[in-house]
Amino acid sequence: MKTTVLFAVAAVLAAPLSAETLNPAAEAAAQEERTQRVAQQLWDWAELGYLETRSSGLLQDELQQEGFAIEAGVADIPTAFVAEWGTGGPVIAILAEYDALPGITQSASPNRDPVADKHAGHACGHNLFGAGSLTAAIATKRWLEKTGTPGRIRLYGTPAEEGGSGKVYMTRAGLFDDVDVALHWHAADENTAAARTSLANRSGKFRFRGVSAHAAGAPERGRSALDGVEAMNMMVNMMREHTTMDTRIHYVITEGGAAPNVVPDFAEVFYYVRHSDADEVRALWPRLEAAARGAALGTGTEVEWEIIHGNNPLLVNETLARTMDAKLRQVGGVDYTAEERAWAEEIAGTFGDAAEPLENAVEIQPYETSLGYGSTDVGDVSWATPTVGLRTATWVPGTSAHSWQAVAASGHSIGHKGAQVAAEAVALMAAELFSNPELRAAARAEFEAARGTDYEYVSLLGDRDPPLDFRR
Ligand SMILES: [Zn+2]
Ligand SMILES: [Zn+2]
Repeated sequence: MKTTVLFAVAAVLAAPLSAETLNPAAEAAAQEERTQRVAQQLWDWAELGYLETRSSGLLQDELQQEGFAIEAGVADIPTAFVAEWGTGGPVIAILAEYDALPGITQSASPNRDPVADKHAGHACGHNLFGAGSLTAAIATKRWLEKTGTPGRIRLYGTPAEEGGSGKVYMTRAGLFDDVDVALHWHAADENTAAARTSLANRSGKFRFRGVSAHAAGAPERGRSALDGVEAMNMMVNMMREHTTMDTRIHYVITEGGAAPNVVPDFAEVFYYVRHSDADEVRALWPRLEAAARGAALGTGTEVEWEIIHGNNPLLVNETLARTMDAKLRQVGGVDYTAEERAWAEEIAGTFGDAAEPLENAVEIQPYETSLGYGSTDVGDVSWATPTVGLRTATWVPGTSAHSWQAVAASGHSIGHKGAQVAAEAVALMAAELFSNPELRAAARAEFEAARGTDYEYVSLLGDRDPPLDFRR
């Protein structure tokens, strides 16, 4: 209502609209149908990392129709793109993700209901991330256009967040070098703009090769590749005791032979190493490599390894985080209808002791700084340009990421509403950044001080090329 009145006044004056006369959140609110439609379409497709051809294409189409210039296939990744609208002024980037997770499917039902011939699901809500960021970018563009504010809004289509580190290749290619501030958000079971860090990580596959033989008839002629894997795991498990706090090491055996009566000539173990300090990850890694070499030596096998992905930790920017917190409070949380509440109660019923009050969906968590134990490729972006994000209650309170309950809500009106909250908060934040040079300067000063003057970007995945077929 207020917007309409101000708009009428501005029209009477026949002068260019000032930045205050239009509300970027209202522009985003007018796009709610788009948020729902695109979120639902990405959820249905549930495409895996670096294979998100249709999802990336849909986002590009929507942006192109809105007048954005698209550069597709950036950083040698076919499903990565940068869309830009505007001229001159500051450059504000909004990140969008759209990759799904393998091996988890679920309908939008509040009870466990895997989908028969589907092999992936949006268990991290990246369909919402993509759709919400799209709406935020278009709302900001319309606000820039109507207010005549100089500046460029960009949407970065960033593939393969889950284990593919898409943004790391995009950062390494220098795509964020001329960006003033980057904005992101993520699906969650609560609303918060708390400045939460993440862990640096690196993953790698260690491949052991031995000699096959009849396990009973000619065991002396065999050399078991699985022995190599097990010896390595034993040494790494002993190594845990002698690492610093906040070290996280986990592995799965991705190949360990097919039959007990055949000595396996190939075995593979997939490791993750994490720490809040990237240098600590770099220091731990050679110890893993030494364990692999020792295991191969002792078991008469051979070993080689490949780094699969690696992310730097998130560099928090408190100046931006406090402003984002204020924008989130301005928008408010996710308000359930009676029908949505009943649906949420059924989901909450599957959590047992881990259930959280459903009111968390509508409330905004207190602002704080904390250490998060996940990892994200947004981390690398945050060392290239001041970066800030938020999380919204797209999932029923108590929901863990990567669960069937997260898939269900990501394909439900509750998820769409959470994405809409994020879109409105991000649009408000973008508009604030375009019109507030003091805020941009303060954020930049904090960023430069935190990075240090002699900072040089080093990726944790080295010089490898994007693993475009890692989900095939
Ligand atoms: Zn995830
Ligand atoms: Zn995620």
